[in-house]
Amino acid sequence: MVYNELRKDYLLNRWVVIATERSRRPTDFAKQRAESAQNGVCPLCVGNEHMTPPAVMLYLKQNGEIRKDKDHDGKRPKNWLVRVIPNLYPAFGPYKHADYREEIMKSESFGYAIGHHEVLVESPNHDEDPADAELSQLKLVVNAYIDRFRELSAKPYVKYVSIFRNYGQEAGASLSHAHSQIIATPFVPRIPAEEMAASKNFYVKHQKCVFCDIIEKETKSPRLVLDNSHFVVFAPYASVHPLEFWILPKKHGANLLGLSKVEKEAFAETLKTSLKALKDLVNDPPYNYGFHLSINSEAEDYYHWHLEVYPRLSIWAGFEKNTGMYINTVQPETSAAELRKTIQA
Ligand SMILES: [Zn+2]
Ligand SMILES: [Zn+2]
Ligand SMILES: [Zn+2]
Repeated sequence: MVYNELRKDYLLNRWVVIATERSRRPTDFAKQRAESAQNGVCPLCVGNEHMTPPAVMLYLKQNGEIRKDKDHDGKRPKNWLVRVIPNLYPAFGPYKHADYREEIMKSESFGYAIGHHEVLVESPNHDEDPADAELSQLKLVVNAYIDRFRELSAKPYVKYVSIFRNYGQEAGASLSHAHSQIIATPFVPRIPAEEMAASKNFYVKHQKCVFCDIIEKETKSPRLVLDNSHFVVFAPYASVHPLEFWILPKKHGANLLGLSKVEKEAFAETLKTSLKALKDLVNDPPYNYGFHLSINSEAEDYYHWHLEVYPRLSIWAGFEKNTGMYINTVQPETSAAELRKTIQA
């Protein structure tokens, strides 16, 4: 009897059972995806700007140049390349008082969901998702992430900025137009908080960044997917999803603000290459991705930003919901090998 492996995340107290008994190959998950019918009018498409709240940020195309602006005076320009709008039904809504005098947390277990919730429309083209996007457009998206991050993270009541993307209906995307979301929260949510606390502990103990350490190890491991001059992509040791991968910058930094122009462009390229491999390998699966980063300057030494990509290939059920522990039926080493092969093909 061979036991299944029980693996713990690098930092989180999160365990996954690597259940390879059925030895599934990542490609077994490829399935015929139902063509999601676009019902009615898309509020994010060009021409429908009036269907959304005014944009808080726009990249406008004008005389061959790109200009940053926003919607004003009831005008909604149509010559945009990237458009950021407040979510119509925000999970975290803005302060009602301009002087921020409202207390956010009222007690240990009660507070107001004050913050920001934005939709970042990635392209005027309905289907321009990262795997297939023009590189020039994806570079604008990365730049827009950073612009919004800079503005939101500077607000005194914002303690965390979550930038994430849901792709496909099964991954929670209620609109099929290419878009990401940004949620600014008044405290650091549990998973990034746990990661930060554990990286801080590691730093105190070893005087180095745990993620720099992980990069060094994973670039030499069978879990490596891609290694270029600025980024490394690998399937994490305790992946909870089949084909899960993370993208880490080789240059240490707690968030996106320290990226040079070349690094931003390299990130867009790395993101596109990895997501394209996922798409080709298992027939365009739904996925979620999200950044982990810190806005706290104290974390600069010990925290290292990264992007985590979670393909939605298996359905989590009772055990996961009940225990916070996971079962992954594909070895991360196998996932990495398949992604690597697809990239090289
Ligand atoms: Zn659309
Ligand atoms: Zn680091
Ligand atoms: Zn993380």
